[in-house]
Amino acid sequence: MRGAVQGVGFRPAVYRLATEMGLAGWVINTPQGVTIEVEGTAAVLGTFLQRLEADRPPRSSIQGVETSYLDPTGCSGFEIRHSDAAGAKTAIVLPDIATCPDCLSEVFDPANRRYRYPFTNCTNCGPRYSIIDALPYDRPNTTMRAFAMCQQCRCEYEDPRDRRFHAQPNACPECGPRLELRRADGGVVAIADEALIAAARAIAGGTTVAVKGIGGFHLIADARNHDAVRRLRAGKHREEKPFATMFPSVASVRDVCEVSPVEERLLCSPEAPIVLLRRLELAQVIAPSVAPGNPYLGVLLPYAPLHHLLMAELGFPAVATSGNLSDEPICTDENDARHRLAGIADLFLVHNRAIARHVDDSIVRIMAGRELVLRRARGYAPMPQQIPGGTEPVLAVGAHLKNTVAIATGNQVFTSQHIGDLETAEAYAAFEDVIGSLTRMYDVEPRRVACDLHPDYLSTRYAFRSGLAVTPVQHHYAHVLSCMAENDLAAPALGVAWDGTGYGLDGTVWGGEFLRVSQHSFERIAHLRSFRLPGGEKAVREPRRSALGLLFEALGSDALDRMDLAPVNAFPKEDRETMRAMLQAGLNAPLTSSAGRLFDAVASLCDLRHVSRYEGQAAMELEFALDGRTVMDHYPFSIGTGTPAIIDWAPMILSLIEDLRRGATHGAISAKFHNTLVETIVSVTRMAGLERVVLTGGCFQNKYLCERAVDRLTGERFNPYWHRRIPPNDGGIALGQIMGLLRGTN
Ligand code: ZN
Ligand code: ZN
Ligand code: FE
Repeated sequence: MRGAVQGVGFRPAVYRLATEMGLAGWVINTPQGVTIEVEGTAAVLGTFLQRLEADRPPRSSIQGVETSYLDPTGCSGFEIRHSDAAGAKTAIVLPDIATCPDCLSEVFDPANRRYRYPFTNCTNCGPRYSIIDALPYDRPNTTMRAFAMCQQCRCEYEDPRDRRFHAQPNACPECGPRLELRRADGGVVAIADEALIAAARAIAGGTTVAVKGIGGFHLIADARNHDAVRRLRAGKHREEKPFATMFPSVASVRDVCEVSPVEERLLCSPEAPIVLLRRLELAQVIAPSVAPGNPYLGVLLPYAPLHHLLMAELGFPAVATSGNLSDEPICTDENDARHRLAGIADLFLVHNRAIARHVDDSIVRIMAGRELVLRRARGYAPMPQQIPGGTEPVLAVGAHLKNTVAIATGNQVFTSQHIGDLETAEAYAAFEDVIGSLTRMYDVEPRRVACDLHPDYLSTRYAFRSGLAVTPVQHHYAHVLSCMAENDLAAPALGVAWDGTGYGLDGTVWGGEFLRVSQHSFERIAHLRSFRLPGGEKAVREPRRSALGLLFEALGSDALDRMDLAPVNAFPKEDRETMRAMLQAGLNAPLTSSAGRLFDAVASLCDLRHVSRYEGQAAMELEFALDGRTVMDHYPFSIGTGTPAIIDWAPMILSLIEDLRRGATHGAISAKFHNTLVETIVSVTRMAGLERVVLTGGCFQNKYLCERAVDRLTGERFNPYWHRRIPPNDGGIALGQIMGLLRGTN
């Protein structure tokens, strides 16, 4: 049996069923999955197989079953054999699983021997991906190898009727990992339960505590305490980007946010991601500095016994942000954490179970009624994507921002957990580590490597230095292919790939692309009209630069003197003249067709944001300003007749400036702007004559844009597809690169 069949209580389930049915034989974990041999009459064996599929453990999933009949050997009894390490390693490593209800009730039961034990787990829950070094998933191959099980734990582990039978991280207060509370200088303040209580007391008193969790450190502070949160921001060098908040319970979330049934299910799911929830307008509980100016809050519930115990002790919502400095990967090692987080955290609640790899909290948003993963890590990685056919081992190194990597082997693609922006030495080191650990774990040696077309990305340079045959895959093509792979979609399809930046086939910056994907390649059939970005890269942080470039393109140089326009006003005269010179000469002012930059420009025109504090902020604020309930109309636009067809937004900008002059609300302008973009998608789709439309790229993290596009396309009888568990942003690029490489062309 292949699939998610290890670390989920699969063998005990087989054992119980075979014993109950009086069948003899054995079951064994192999690097490919689980092998079962059972002896009995053909009819009974048929029933056994049926019941096995029907009664499989809740967290398992079966991808394939191969059966064959052998001669009877006359064996008696049923046994669980020791794992077999031979052969190709294709078994699925499970993600880390949030604490199950059984373990939770034990942790809070004073009569239980695991009362208040923060490392309680069983075959239905607990760490997996974050503790495994190698396949098969057995204790010696995990970071639990450092702990010898006590008598009682060993009995549970060896008893097929026990919930902890072969639960690899099985532990108890007698034999398992232990908490310590340390100061930044390493001095121990308290141990075990006293450490937890002292940490909670410190947090309640306004201190930031670094807490070693499942896939790395969190920085935890009282989310109601404005000063504590501000100090945390200063320490992390994180100006305005929202912090995630952990709540003690779903009920406490309801005091602060709207929670729909599907959102509640996600919060309480085994994946236990951060869910972006709409805040209740009147709720004042959370300090404004947690998510400044943001109508959403990133909310998560406790997902390990340690968090459950801590949150029960606190009884109030706490900021639980990654233990890192801005843009660096999350800390996993205690010494590293005390070094890197010194000055941010005063205390460190740590334990002696090593973390094999960093795994951040995942972030999810509800999109068109179902989950959309924006950051894919804990709970989701490294679950594979099935692909048709088979492949020799290949590697994809992803893009530059929100980097992930992927390896494909056989008919599966394993996309790594979120690594981050490859902007710092630490992030680049993590990138190399993840490639190393993924290839080691699946014991594959990639023959070929796919990368972005951008020659200067560190990931691209890594690919060219690797000595492997390199296939560069165009960025937006990769976006579209990732969405097609996730939806199991065959060509032909129309890809709408809208994002901030991606290196185009013509060397310009693409980002507002319509790609017709055929059997083996793609054609850029349409794109947003290009404009120049004065200062190039600087425009990413300064929406006002995009706005000037846009105005220059639509209205000419005179527009840069119109002091009634907010972006013009947002520059001192001198800087404006520098921009004008760059735009006129086309120097240090690259052309872009980016939809993301168009969002930025409009946010600046509306005087919402001229300088961003984090990636995507201006576009998000434009989305937040939106009044989509009452405003249904859109601005004019035109589409050229050439190939590629140019979507001209200039009529929209003229009309939008007129709206601004008339004093129209931001809500109305933003809605009309979003509606216009959706209408361009509908128009190009009609023109392309393709039924299947794929919506991908970072812009489709925008709820209104994505949902309205889905509605309008469906209304016009097209079939729209969007992402679910693979992010629409650059976190999905690695999967798309694999698909591009396997198609063998750009
Ligand atoms: Zn459990
Ligand atoms: Zn024990
Ligand atoms: Fe992108």
